[in-house]
Amino acid sequence: MSIKENLQKIEQEIYNACMRANRNPEEVKIIAVTKYIDIEKTKEVLDAGIVHIGENRVEGGVEKAEALGNRGVWHFIGTLQSRKVKKMIDKFSYIHSLERESLAREIDKRAKAGTKVNCFVQVNVSGEESKSGLRSEEVIPFFRSLEQFQAIHVVGLMTMAPFYENPEKTRPFFKKLKELQLEVQALNLPYAPCQELSMGMSNDYIVAVEEGATFVRIGTALVGSH
Ligand SMILES: *Cc1c(COP(=O)(O)O)cnc(C)c1O
Repeated sequence: MSIKENLQKIEQEIYNACMRANRNPEEVKIIAVTKYIDIEKTKEVLDAGIVHIGENRVEGGVEKAEALGNRGVWHFIGTLQSRKVKKMIDKFSYIHSLERESLAREIDKRAKAGTKVNCFVQVNVSGEESKSGLRSEEVIPFFRSLEQFQAIHVVGLMTMAPFYENPEKTRPFFKKLKELQLEVQALNLPYAPCQELSMGMSNDYIVAVEEGATFVRIGTALVGSH
C-alpha cells in the first residue's frame, strides 16, 4: 500500500477511536516516524501531506531535515545525549525525550536567547528496564526542578508502552500517563502547560487515542520499515 493509502486507513482508525472515546479527532496529530527510511522516501511522506516527522537519531534526522529544505515539523523522539543537543536544536521543533535535569540544562544553554524549546517529559510508565524515561513517582519533582530553566517549555508527557501482540494490554500504561498529566496540570506551572500526550505507535495507537493521545508516533504502519 502507498503512504497515502496507509495514511487514510490510520486517519479513519483515529476518527473511529475518537468517536468511541467522545473526543474531537482534530486533537490528534500523526507524527510519521521516518527512522527506517531514507531521504527520498521521507520526501514522499511530506508530499503525501504529512506535516509532523519523527526521528530518533541526531545524525540521520539533521541530515534529512537539511536535505528536505526544512519542510515539515521535526520531532526528536529518541534518547538524546547532551553533547548532541547543540547540533539538533535548530532543526527540531519538539523534543519528546526530556528525562533528566542535565539534559534540560544543556537545552537551556543551547537554545537561542529568549526562545522556548517545546519538550515532552518522557515517562517509563511500565518500568521495563529496556525503556528510558522517568519513573512515575519521579515526574512531579522533576517538573518542579525545571523552573530554573528559562528556555524549557513542557508541552506534554511521552511514553512508550511495552510491545504486546494484543494492544489492549497497553491500555493501563496509557491511562497512567493521562493520570500523570492531570497531576502535572494541577500544579499550574507557567512553563509546563502539559496539554499534549505523545503516546501510541503502529501496534497500539488506536488504544492510545482512546486513552487521550494527542500525538501518535507511527513508523511501520504508515511509511513501512525500509
Ligand atoms: C520507532 C519509534 C516509533 C514508531 O514505531 P513503529 O512501531 O514503527 O510505529 C515511535 N516512537 C518511538 C520513540 C520510536 O523509537
